[in-house]
Amino acid sequence: MADKFDVIVIGAGPGGYVAAIHAAQLGLKTACVEKWVNKEGKTVHGGTCLNVGCIPSKALLETSHKFVEAQHDYDELGIEVGDISVDVKKMMARKEKTVANLTGGISSLFKANGVTALEGTGKLLSGKKVEVTGKDGETATYEADNVIIASGSVPVNIPPAPIDNELIVDSAGALEFQEAPKRLGVIGAGVIGLELGSVWSRLGSDVTVIEAMSDFLPTVDNAIAKETRKLLSKQGLDIKLGAKVTGSEVKDGEVVVSYTDSEGEQTQTFDKLIVCVGRKPYTESLLDDGAGIELDDRGFIKVDGTCRTSVDGVFAIGDVVRGPMLAHKASEEGVMVADIVAGHKAEMNYDAIPSVIYTAPEVAWVGINEQEAKEQGIDIKVGTFPFAASGRAMANNATEGMAKVIAHADTDRILGVHIIGQHAGELIAQGVIAMEFGSSAEDLAMTCFAHPTLSEAVHEAALAVDGHAIHMA
Ligand code: FAD
Repeated sequence: MADKFDVIVIGAGPGGYVAAIHAAQLGLKTACVEKWVNKEGKTVHGGTCLNVGCIPSKALLETSHKFVEAQHDYDELGIEVGDISVDVKKMMARKEKTVANLTGGISSLFKANGVTALEGTGKLLSGKKVEVTGKDGETATYEADNVIIASGSVPVNIPPAPIDNELIVDSAGALEFQEAPKRLGVIGAGVIGLELGSVWSRLGSDVTVIEAMSDFLPTVDNAIAKETRKLLSKQGLDIKLGAKVTGSEVKDGEVVVSYTDSEGEQTQTFDKLIVCVGRKPYTESLLDDGAGIELDDRGFIKVDGTCRTSVDGVFAIGDVVRGPMLAHKASEEGVMVADIVAGHKAEMNYDAIPSVIYTAPEVAWVGINEQEAKEQGIDIKVGTFPFAASGRAMANNATEGMAKVIAHADTDRILGVHIIGQHAGELIAQGVIAMEFGSSAEDLAMTCFAHPTLSEAVHEAALAVDGHAIHMA
């Protein structure tokens, strides 16, 4: 038997690495097992988020957005740039450098905080023992007082469009194209599909998004979802709703996709196809038969409100458990669990987790939306403010979008904030903080916001809850 630890974390994504660092900061002897190996055969930390998720996708969104701005908006701003083009290989090299810097940064943080990095695949055995199988096939078994499982998620595959990593790819493959495909199909109009579709559309691809559901972004506030669809369609994304993919055929360097919609059987030919139909919890080779960890019927590890599994002293966090599959949700659970393991009281407010779609404009929300309030029979007051009436949005040449504040009709407590507009992903933090502090719409309305800022749109929306927006008739 090798070393004994206070805590062993399995998985070094944003859930696991944050849990490991925080546990070590609290004085616990901590190890973190990671099996992700990069193209050079090196074990890397950071999980889906840093390697093939949040970070590389945002690097590509940023480059492609700047390209579109330079092409279409600079002229109006009085900037002449002439003919411009994108060097996709250079764009990819910057993305890879950003990923390498960040993943390397986690390894340095492990060293600085005294987290023992164990390289290989971790398997939970009974009695809180973890067996680690290294790249060379050698195994070692470690013991811990507490184990935190943070094994994440993987993309869902669908039989009608099997991934071949050539013409049909998943989200990770879509971050690796070396040129913009002429005709790009995206199956799934969720957050990831819209972000990746936007990247390649901006770089010149004709993008068709095929979505089985008939509602667009059903979990987003209806008015915001409607505006999002309008703006993305204006940008050239052909979004087909109620279109169920039934098959695909790869032939002569093309992929022919068949789907059914309200008008019957359809086919469309693409040069590349991205399958983005969701993600599923990942527990492959993770749990020994005797480990005693219960899964639910969708394969998520069953946990209670503080991420305790069916085995005492074993916790699970992040994408492998219930709740939104978001990096910051995983990290917050990591902090909460490390605190609990160290003997502190800790809990998480699951009602104040923000979501962001990093399209242009960005879409961001926290709390409940109008349709959810209605479904739950909650009486609400709503204040909205259009970016078109914001001085800073005008100065920024970014007048598309709106901010919306939803408050309880009787108590005035803020129940949700919804924004579509430039930097919505940054602005939403104001709604999150307000909700975390149990603020009323009036509290937000009586707060002094700097001028001229886009944040004033949130302020005005809070004022509008009681009909007192200043810059709106
Ligand atoms: P992961 O990040 O999946 O990490 C799990 C880690 O555990 C992996 O490194 C894996 O190798 C390791 N592991 C698994 N099993 C074992 C084992 N048995 N032994 C050792 N190691 C193991 N979220 C956001 O909040 N914002 C975004 O903008 C965003 N953009 C995204 C874009 C894309 C294209 C994708 C695919 C996802 C995006 N996400 C985003 C989602 C985000 O990446 C996940 O929610 C987040 O990574 C979940 O963190 P996690 O720690 O639970 O799991």
